[in-house]
Amino acid sequence: MPTSVKERPMLITLTGPSGTGKSAVISALLSQDPKLRRFVTATTRTPRPGEEHGRDYYFMERGEFEAGVAKGEFLEHNPNYNGNMYGTPRWEVERLFEEGCDVISDINAIGVRLFEAAMPKRIFKLLILPPNRERLEQRLTKRNPELADEGRARLQQLEADMDNLHNPSYVFTNPDMIGTTYGDYDVVLVNDVLEHTVAEVAKVITNERAKRGQ
Ligand code: ADP
Ligand code: 5GP
Repeated sequence: MPTSVKERPMLITLTGPSGTGKSAVISALLSQDPKLRRFVTATTRTPRPGEEHGRDYYFMERGEFEAGVAKGEFLEHNPNYNGNMYGTPRWEVERLFEEGCDVISDINAIGVRLFEAAMPKRIFKLLILPPNRERLEQRLTKRNPELADEGRARLQQLEADMDNLHNPSYVFTNPDMIGTTYGDYDVVLVNDVLEHTVAEVAKVITNERAKRGQ
């Protein structure tokens, strides 16, 4: 099969287990790359302490979200992730593309598949994994001690995946990466030391821009 020509602006998806460091990596990248913007996605889940509407997510009521889906206002959406809806408003991405920026966000595997179908030439798919289960547990607890139950539930969903962290043919089972393997992503990174991970992601984005040649 001929390889399809890739285009810019790129839509970069960062997928990985909750607590791996996706938000931390994205924040650091944005502060150093003026041609990169984060597209803010929408969710019906409750904001975590410190999260802001319009910065972290567009927090929506379920009825409002469903009405948006019915009107075709979402580029992709996941109707049920741990009981909540998540999705990408079409206008959010279109607005940033019009400014000529590459865009990045934290998107689960279901969303990545939908984006791939909708924008095969623009998508660039990154997978980020924790070094091990213990470190993921520490990060989930550090982020939000009050929501320890949510963290514990998410860790339980990750048990099998954490046991197979270094097995490239393993098919992930947790809701963030369900049904995918390493091979479904363009780049796989392990977030050990944050600054190193950020530098590595910045480098792969620079290389990909050069490859796309635009
Ligand atoms: P995600 O967006 O993947 O759910 P976060 O970016 O919210 O994860 O990270 C979870 C917690 O772990 C945050 O407190 C964050 O500052 C911290 N963290 C992220 N990356 C690292 C790292 N490499 N080393 C130590 N702590 C980290
Ligand atoms: P959290 O509740 O931890 O912020 O995110 C839960 C999961 O939803 C993560 O895997 C995150 O990548 C994913 N996610 C966030 N926004 C979207 C979106 O707009 N669409 C899809 N499909 N997934 C999303």
